[in-house]
Amino acid sequence: MTVVTRFAPSPTGYLHVGGARTALYSWLYAKKSGGKFILRIEDTDLERSTPEAVQAILDGMKWLGMENDGEIFYQTKRFDLYKEFVQKLIEQDKAYKCYCSKERLDALREEQEANGQRTGYDGHCSHGSTDAAQDAPYVVRFRNPKEGSVKWTDVIRGEMEISNDEMDDMIIQRTDGSPTYNFCVVIDDWQMEMTHVVRGEDHLINTAKQINIFEAFGATVPTYAHCSMILGDDGKKLSKRHGAVGVMQYRDDGYLPQALINYLVRLGWSHGDQEVFTLDELFTHFDIASINKSASGFNTEKLNWMNQQYMKLLPATEVAKHLAWHFENQNVDVANGPKLEAIVEIQAERVKTLKELAEISAYFYQDFSEFDEKAAKKHLRPVAKEALQVAKQKLQDLTSWDAESIQAAINGTAEQLDVGMGKVGMPLRVATTGSGNSPSLDVTLELLPKDKVIERIDMALDFIAQREANS
Ligand code: GLU
Repeated sequence: MTVVTRFAPSPTGYLHVGGARTALYSWLYAKKSGGKFILRIEDTDLERSTPEAVQAILDGMKWLGMENDGEIFYQTKRFDLYKEFVQKLIEQDKAYKCYCSKERLDALREEQEANGQRTGYDGHCSHGSTDAAQDAPYVVRFRNPKEGSVKWTDVIRGEMEISNDEMDDMIIQRTDGSPTYNFCVVIDDWQMEMTHVVRGEDHLINTAKQINIFEAFGATVPTYAHCSMILGDDGKKLSKRHGAVGVMQYRDDGYLPQALINYLVRLGWSHGDQEVFTLDELFTHFDIASINKSASGFNTEKLNWMNQQYMKLLPATEVAKHLAWHFENQNVDVANGPKLEAIVEIQAERVKTLKELAEISAYFYQDFSEFDEKAAKKHLRPVAKEALQVAKQKLQDLTSWDAESIQAAINGTAEQLDVGMGKVGMPLRVATTGSGNSPSLDVTLELLPKDKVIERIDMALDFIAQREANS
């Protein structure tokens, strides 16, 4: 049996982390099993589905690297197929036309509520007894079994049982002829030969309804795995209130897709106490049966930690690819500066996100017109003038521009003036990078052109001169 799984989002908003995690579990399971992963856009709710949301889902899936197999299915393009199957159920008397008016249904609900009964359709049209005219509008209802219960073995939650009492004869086709959600899902999961359905626990009751429809068709019911919810840091259901929950927001905020994938897989699944997994390791160890039953709490600090691990672990060329996007986003042209890989090598451990990495590295590519105020106040003082002048000369005289020679020039300056390294290093750092924070100066200056370094030292000397003149 070839494993077939799917991700079936409703395009009513961006791809949020809960959806992304469900997609990830389905994708991983298909890939590890040598199976197929289908992407199906459940856009039957015409009022709430938008093209922007579809695009956000496609962008998110692509950014996370979860490629679907074959074409992307859109339910709105399959209405004829669903209609055919509705017809089949009617022919077999497993579904029927219902002509009940809205007024009747409203009155029924009110009465049920007043009597403290469970609300739901009472089967008024289920025996064909209708006084409606032939051309009156109708819906089609599925004849749900009246007795017994729906049972299935959920891969995550174990033995499940939902009584048929809890379900009424649900509408499978509206008056305008459009099919309804639970019906389309069954037809698609059946026709697409789904073997495993991974989705949120909020679909448990839908699963029971859907199994009844599968059985009405005599179709094979897939294996279900219902994941728990993701909660915010505060223990409440994850929502917009918790900040960035749209997947692309994580890209904008500077996370690597590999880090988010690793973070999401661990949010509800574990393998011993291992935290960081390569994709190959996930393909080996991941299994839907070991997804946690209990809810998981989203923890931004842990995601930050994971991101930092990945910035250091992944090949610098891979990190550089994503970093390039951030520089562009921050309008920093990197064409005429050091290779991004070199920036990753020396800066990655200093930050948690790529966004920060780009922010603190702009001085490699762009001139600055001002020094960081606090750093300048502390380190670009008249006492630093001599150190800067001597260092400038020594750097200028270097015949080879590499970290070792640069370090020798800095050491030589400190020796010549008989001062500590900090007295040379800090003014030089502020002069050349604009702030008091940078990696070790030898590797930093090595990445800047020599004439740029000299120019910036001159700018710092001017700044000091200005300061002297004003005092
Ligand atoms: N379209 C449904 C949703 O976005 C998911 C349906 C399913 O996975 O069966 O909630």
